[in-house]
Amino acid sequence: MSYDYVICGGGTAGCIVARRLAENPNVTVCLIEAGPSDEGGCSSHNTVIAFIAPAENLDQWEQLGAHGWNSKATRKYYNKVFEKVNLHTVPPLNPLNQAFIDSCTAVNIPQIEMNSDAFINEFSNCCGYLQLNVTGLDRCSSSRSYLHPISSLPSNLTVLTNTTVTKLIIDQQTMIVTGVLTNTNENIKVKKECIVSSGAFDTPKLLLLSGIGPAQHLQKMNIRCILNLEGVGSNLMDHPECVIIWESNYPLPDQVIQRWEAALFFKTQTYSIKPDVMFHFGTEAYDIQNNLFGYPSEKQAFSITFNVNQAKSRGHVQLRSNNYLDPPQIDCQYFADEQKHDKTVMIAGLKLARKIVEQSPLQKWVKCELSPGVQIQSDEEIWNYCRKASTTLFHVAGTCKMGNVDNDNMAVVDSQLKVKGIQNLRIADTSVFPTMISVNPCITCMMIGEKCADMIRQDE
Ligand SMILES: Cc1cc2nc3c(=O)[nH]c(=O)nc-3n(C[C@H](O)[C@H](O)[C@H](O)COP(=O)(O)OP(=O)(O)OC[C@H]3O[C@@H](n4cnc5c(N)ncnc54)[C@H](O)[C@@H]3O)c2cc1C
Repeated sequence: MSYDYVICGGGTAGCIVARRLAENPNVTVCLIEAGPSDEGGCSSHNTVIAFIAPAENLDQWEQLGAHGWNSKATRKYYNKVFEKVNLHTVPPLNPLNQAFIDSCTAVNIPQIEMNSDAFINEFSNCCGYLQLNVTGLDRCSSSRSYLHPISSLPSNLTVLTNTTVTKLIIDQQTMIVTGVLTNTNENIKVKKECIVSSGAFDTPKLLLLSGIGPAQHLQKMNIRCILNLEGVGSNLMDHPECVIIWESNYPLPDQVIQRWEAALFFKTQTYSIKPDVMFHFGTEAYDIQNNLFGYPSEKQAFSITFNVNQAKSRGHVQLRSNNYLDPPQIDCQYFADEQKHDKTVMIAGLKLARKIVEQSPLQKWVKCELSPGVQIQSDEEIWNYCRKASTTLFHVAGTCKMGNVDNDNMAVVDSQLKVKGIQNLRIADTSVFPTMISVNPCITCMMIGEKCADMIRQDE
């Protein structure tokens, strides 16, 4: 089997790259997805909260050497996403959501239309109803929006599910990817380009298994180093998140599309230039993590999750062994930043959540605080709780970051998303984020898929 373009990973970005490349009837495209049934990766099971990244986030990417990735230049690609993916603003029908918004405005946090120009360009303290990538009650995942129905796919696009790419085959003389090996023992030949879209954990894993990464680590794993690229697997970023949960006085309203429909952004620290904490408001008890530690829970409850939206700590992804069946070794290093920014924002986030809930619109819904409980008051007590109950918001990114590959030795891909030192290998997924964006990343990941496909087609 041989194809012009082979895409490793049919997830959020991968489906988009594949479908857009296949719009050219003169090329052949193969999308390889490890999952057994549906494609779309995390976009097929996430919470469908849809955000365009604030301008300052993307303008920072540009400043760091990602040319053509500033807010203005990327808008065209967000718009291409919105040709396929519907954004629906949550209507103000749920009285508990409205009580949250009213309580925010009671402490002078203005309500804003999320993803409006004012939101994107000013990005300051605000609250509001979320936009969701749904049509009616159906999620607009990458697979639904770009691939389905599979029976109508163009004949030049082959989709292989239940197939894991185990290694990229690279000709060391030319530094060209000539093919990919799969767990089904196939060698799928690459005629033009290979695009890795396996996500922020599995993209660095696949590169490392293929001999691209820090030489020392590869040597330790008994893998022949083809390209010593220090940045592969470094710079792991996320939005570390914690929760505060209240039992509700009243039954939970059922006017919902899903149970997370409102949000807040706030600058808690005087030294922060922009909002440093984000809240999601949930009309349910988000108690998965807290249950592990024995906190009480109730069915009739609501939650505020607070996350450090510009966390300073950085983790890494490495291999456990040279066997592709072994999951990668992930070390998130939450709260490890020397400045203690992440810890400080967490503590401030919990206090702000309580302050908002003390306002009369929400206060009347409160029967009691379930988690962490009102007895937790001092900064030390709050921190002990946050350290225990914090978890991932599943927004992992940055492990093959984009940047100026000529002067930043931790940059893995250039502005064209091309892996430094390999002629025909690109990466398109959240692993290329140079820095974290302050909002939920799925739509930005889709934008990366659109821009990647466009850059490849321009090179054709
Ligand atoms: C539970 C959850 C809730 C979330 N909620 C939101 C939200 O509401 N809003 C938001 O903006 N973001 C949300 N996110 C984050 C967002 O969905 C992700 O950041 C984004 O979808 C990641 O896209 P990706 O293309 O980088 O990776 P993925 O979508 O994970 O795609 C990677 C794909 O590659 C496949 N793969 C991996 N290795 C291989 C291999 N070796 N060979 C072949 N295939 C391979 C995987 O099976 C997967 O399908 C959420 C994430 C999770 C997990």
